Amino acid sequence: MPDCLFCNIVRGEIPCHKVYEDERVLAFLDIQPVNPGHVLVIPKTHSANMVHMAPEDLHAVMDAVQKIAPALLRAVGFEGFNLGVNTGAAAGQVVFHTHFHVMPRRPGDGYELWHGTEAGDLAAMAEKVRGAL
Ligand code: AMP
Ligand code: ZN
Repeated sequence: MPDCLFCNIVRGEIPCHKVYEDERVLAFLDIQPVNPGHVLVIPKTHSANMVHMAPEDLHAVMDAVQKIAPALLRAVGFEGFNLGVNTGAAAGQVVFHTHFHVMPRRPGDGYELWHGTEAGDLAAMAEKVRGAL
């Protein structure tokens, strides 16, 4: 993917602050971190989003997240992290090369996750989703 930003980073044509690399995976600092140490973990092979990833790449990325996250928290002195995967423009995806955000968190850092809404008919919803699978 010649015009893909993250493919360019994988090829070394655009610089990044690399924190981890293996055969399938690259991890580097986000240039607009939500908190210090915000890392993006990406498969080296292009896919637009996680639904389209080869399972081997997905497994390798998750292995990397599991390895990187605890070290990251030690490095920045934070207590927890959110793992974020924006999938599709409607969900806020801007770069269409699969990436997993590892965002260090600490109490009182000012971020809030979304609040739940009225559940409605959960049985009907579960039925609908099972039917779609
Ligand atoms: P998303 O909204 O999930 O597509 O997130 C894209 C992320 O990529 C954002 O958090 C950006 O700050 C980050 N980003 C964009 N360009 C670069 C870059 N050259 N190096 C590192 N991170 C980047
Ligand atoms: Zn790409």
